[in-house]
Amino acid sequence: PLPTMFRYLDALLLQCRHLHDKPPQPDLICPICSYAWDKPPIRSTFLPLTPCGHWVHYRCLIWRASANHSDRARCLTCGVVLFEWEGISMLTLATRTGLLPIENPALQRNYFDNDANMIVTNTREAYEADCAVIENTIYTCFNEEYVRTDVLAELHRRERPRAMWLKYHTDEGLVLWEMLVSIKLKRFIEENCGWVMGTDGWKQFEEG
Ligand SMILES: [Zn+2]
Ligand SMILES: [Zn+2]
Ligand SMILES: [Zn+2]
Repeated sequence: PLPTMFRYLDALLLQCRHLHDKPPQPDLICPICSYAWDKPPIRSTFLPLTPCGHWVHYRCLIWRASANHSDRARCLTCGVVLFEWEGISMLTLATRTGLLPIENPALQRNYFDNDANMIVTNTREAYEADCAVIENTIYTCFNEEYVRTDVLAELHRRERPRAMWLKYHTDEGLVLWEMLVSIKLKRFIEENCGWVMGTDGWKQFEEG
């Protein structure tokens, strides 16, 4: 059976530390970011995948795993499936390690995000813009009769999310997105409306 995504990325790959940053050929290129292994824009450990032995940047592997396509759990070079993909682990890993995609300047398209009122030049900023709009939408939607689905519907109307690594079109992706919105809604209520907690409406919200 395949290892879970968490076990693979967090434990299995990190076992062979003596190999890290010592590729067999000094001129290897990371197949994910296409930069020379020792010259990526953001430093990252270069390591061999298990079981196929192809070399990638650790950061690039996480980025690939966070993408919205069916090959995200496969080695880019040989196509072998590396781990069992899980949306929740992805969010945890990406958040905890701050591992966001390496931006290839040639692929960047800057735009002004009207809802977030900020210029977006990379994936991290796109994510920050989504977060700002979630918070803004919660603020706008909020009243005593708050209902989580109203906030989600309003965010959908505002064509959110836009950030690449929130914008999944899968069931797990939907769970991730709703989880992020719920966490922010819960925090908003705790910070602004302490009196709400303990009411029937709050209990209904907590029970989902
Ligand atoms: Zn080893
Ligand atoms: Zn790379
Ligand atoms: Zn491979």
